[in-house]
Parts: sequence; C-alpha cells; structure tokens
Amino acid sequence: MTAPQRPSFPARIDLHSGKPTGKTVTPAPTPKTRAVPATAAGVNGLNPLKKTNTASAVALAPMASSLAPRGFGMDSAAMRARLAQHLANTGISSKAVLQAIGTVERHRFVDTALVNQAYEDTSLPIGLGQTISKPNVVARMIELLLQSELASRGPLTRVLEIGTGCGYQAAVLAELVREVYSIERLRGLHEKARANLRPFKLANVHLLLGDGMLGYPKGGPYAGIISAAGGEAVPQAWLEQLAVGGRLVAPTVTHGGQQALVVIDRSAQGLHQQVLEAVHFVPLKSGIA
Ligand code: SAH
Repeated sequence: MTAPQRPSFPARIDLHSGKPTGKTVTPAPTPKTRAVPATAAGVNGLNPLKKTNTASAVALAPMASSLAPRGFGMDSAAMRARLAQHLANTGISSKAVLQAIGTVERHRFVDTALVNQAYEDTSLPIGLGQTISKPNVVARMIELLLQSELASRGPLTRVLEIGTGCGYQAAVLAELVREVYSIERLRGLHEKARANLRPFKLANVHLLLGDGMLGYPKGGPYAGIISAAGGEAVPQAWLEQLAVGGRLVAPTVTHGGQQALVVIDRSAQGLHQQVLEAVHFVPLKSGIA
C-alpha cells in the first residue's frame, strides 16, 4: 500500500478540497532526525522516540510559593521546571509528560501582557473568546492518552487534536508522539498557532483549518484523539477515525448535564467508555469562522 502523502508543518490544509494550500511544503523528516534547535526557541531537542532516563528527566526544582516569573530568558527553564514540579505534586505521574511540560515554552503562546502568568497553572485568554488550557488539564489529558493499549507498545503514531487554539498543547504533544494533526475552526487562531509554532520548527505538527467535529479522515486512523473543546456528545466521526487499540480523551456533557472528561478506548471487541472528573472547557462548535 502506498503511504498517503502527508504535508509537513507549516502546512495549511483546506479541509474542503483536502489539498495543502500555500507555498512549497518540505517533506517532514522522520522523527528520528527531527531536531528542535536550542537556539531558535530555546527548546531542548527532546526526541520522544529516544528512551531517556525518565527518573532524572525532569529537573524538579523546589516549588516557589508563587509561580510568578522573575523574567524570561534562561530562567524560563526554571519556571517550567517549577510548573512541572507543581503538576507532579497535583498528581501527574507520567515523567514523559512532565518532561514535555518542562520543555515547551508556554510564554511563547500567550500575549505579551499575560507573559507573567504563562507558568502559572491557569488557563489564559488567547483571543476570539478562547483560552489556552490550564497546564494541569493539558498534562492530565495527555497522560490519559499515553495510557492506551497502543501507547503501551511504543510511541503513538498519529494523534488528532481538536481545537489548536494558540498551539501550546500541539507543541507538548509533538514532544511525545510521532505525528500531530491539529484542527482549529477559527481562522484567526489557526494563523496565530502557525505563527507561534513556527520558531519551534516542529516537522511533526500538521495544522489544519476546519471543523474538527468531522475529524480529519485523511490523517487517520488515529492512535489517539484529544479534544480541547467540549460538546454535547462525542462526534461519530471521531469514533470512526480511532484506531483499534487507540484512545480518545474529550470533555463531553454527561448524563448529569455537566461537562466531564470522557475516555473511550477502541478494542477489537468494540468501544469502552469511562467518565472521569468534571471539567470546564470552551464549547465544541461546528463550522469554520
Ligand atoms: N489546545 C489549545 C486550547 C484551545 S481552546 C491550547 O493549547 O491553547 C479550544 C479551541 O477549540 C478553541 O480555539 C476553539 O475555537 C476550538 N474549537 C471549538 N470547536 C471546534 C471545532 N469543531 N473544530 C476545531 N476547533 C474547535
């Protein structure tokens, strides 16, 4: 079978024609050769496919009483380490996830006026009425994704994210899985995410403008699907695009009328759903705007 041609970042894909738009797209290097330049964005060149000594992977600096930054530059690494430590203290146990949170510069994804809060465990406005998710929630959802059956066999191959927003979670995912397909329905945020992610030069992140309720069948089937927006129900398209052994993690309105994290695993026998803790995400909406 011929592998479908996949555009590399920063591809823009018109979901209606299904074709990449814009300028020449360089083929993505294999994740093995993917390097995040330490100079361009100050991000360590972590490679999810290399086994690191996870026990010492996260620099667990003592948690300051406040996460308020003393400035940005070399010490933003210390801010991230403190954030990772805070997440570890609040129950995130995946060393890989903590390491990714400790690596991705969140201050590059928020407006200048909010930069001082970038390493607090809080959601922040990113424009157009949307928010960058709280780090604890990003970490929790990705940790759940990495507990799937497929994840137990090695790094996840393809992951679909619904709701790119400013691109932060996509950057965190890019540290942990081979290919990230991230869809955003708001053109303004899609563009913002492209601009935010550009310096990171993540060849394994594919940004798409479209209605994520329809998924993105061309990139599937997905070993993981993660939604940053909550709907009344899990769209059928997501279930259809989930690989056997794959896991979907999404905020969804449950029987009580409240939004909760829903985890759905696909096995050869069918789908298995778990409803976890209550959460509060922006609404999943259809169409693009
Ligand atoms: N992952 C983001 C969080 C963004 S908030 C981050 O790291 O910052 C959730 C996003 O979901 C919003 O930007 C919203 O516009 C988007 N969204 C809502 N419904 C959508 C849909 N049907 N398809 C794609 N994106 C959607």
